[in-house]
Amino acid sequence: MTTGEERVAAGWERLNALLIRLGRPDPHDDSFRQTGTLVNAPVSRGSTMLFPDLDTMRRVGAERYEHTAIYGAMGSPVQHDLERVIAVIEGGRDTQIVSSGLAACTTTLLTWTSSGGHCLIPDSCYGPTRRFADTMLRRFGVETTYYEPMISADGLRALMRPNTQVVFAESPGSHTFEVQDISMLASVAHDGGARLLLDNTWGFGIFMPFDHGVDVSIQALTKYPGGHSDVILGAITVATEDDWQMLRDAAIQLGQLAGPDECWLTLRGLRTMGVRLARQARTTWRVAQWLKEQPDVAQILYPPFPECPGHEFWERDFTGAGPLFTVVLNASFDRAAMERMVNSLTRFGIGASWGGYESLVLPTTGGISRSMNGALPAGPAFRLAIGLDDEADLIADLREGFRRL
Ligand SMILES: *Cc1c(COP(=O)(O)O)cnc(C)c1O
Repeated sequence: MTTGEERVAAGWERLNALLIRLGRPDPHDDSFRQTGTLVNAPVSRGSTMLFPDLDTMRRVGAERYEHTAIYGAMGSPVQHDLERVIAVIEGGRDTQIVSSGLAACTTTLLTWTSSGGHCLIPDSCYGPTRRFADTMLRRFGVETTYYEPMISADGLRALMRPNTQVVFAESPGSHTFEVQDISMLASVAHDGGARLLLDNTWGFGIFMPFDHGVDVSIQALTKYPGGHSDVILGAITVATEDDWQMLRDAAIQLGQLAGPDECWLTLRGLRTMGVRLARQARTTWRVAQWLKEQPDVAQILYPPFPECPGHEFWERDFTGAGPLFTVVLNASFDRAAMERMVNSLTRFGIGASWGGYESLVLPTTGGISRSMNGALPAGPAFRLAIGLDDEADLIADLREGFRRL
């Protein structure tokens, strides 16, 4: 019998063997046979690339789908190394690195929609994705319908239109953690001739998107791979050669790339991602268990707990759990009381983002919006990101917070 704690950490622990090897120079490679090589690839900076003659330049330009470049804006060698590594971890055909997680969301939507088209986006999506759909996508003539993230197959079928080009998914949902039935969404989307796009940031390495019918997977590498709150980066991964060519062309046309230092830091962060996240997942499990027993807590929105919407899909599809969840207080508390508690915490920094080594808290109530009635918890709520802190310190801090509440 595996305990819950082992279950949430298992997928991260299994990644270690892969993470320490991928995307590094091979000392047996011909170019290193006479000289040896450093363990890690160098950071390579540059805009202009020089060629011995025009034919070579043209040939390299034509091979752009093979991660080559004739100019720095098409990516540096370290960016291309990172792209190959992310494609393996996500289990896809190929990956394009972009400047941020948000750029991964927007570039993806721009690549697979066109004027007169329609997209379906879950009501639980990351706020800036919603703003992009409501402003720029709309301005370009693409209409968006928001759907309930726990929608049934029949419900989704009823929302599909002849011009529906993409079904977007984000699982679990931002702040409210609904785990979506990705295989079902994929089958309905494909029946209607649409692609399924998934923001897989929480599930990176512990949910294999392409095994469940996803066409395009989006990552904010800022989170787990970066891991130290010192880098902003995004990735888009696809399953087929056709989609890869569309994506690579779109990224080049939009001038989407990332600086070599960001890519290098992310490759470095990936080496320890499995170890960090296994520890964070175990601490998260124990802190969430403790919180569940507190009389002031109404609900914990954490996919490994049966009370979380879509828990059965987490159980079915994920090999581990992320260090991020939401605590809903009893409805007898007001928002001001919750904010006093949040302000009083000393081990949790107040700040956006997550996935780094430090623990964070951010109010859900007052911080996010939803279109659908009943989509937000009844009581005031806040989201916790668990870092590398000791569990006892975090629990002591929360206990003191409840005393002040
Ligand atoms: C953080 C986040 C993003 C945006 O990533 P940035 O790199 O901060 O732009 C997108 N989607 C999800 C689910 C995120 O958590």
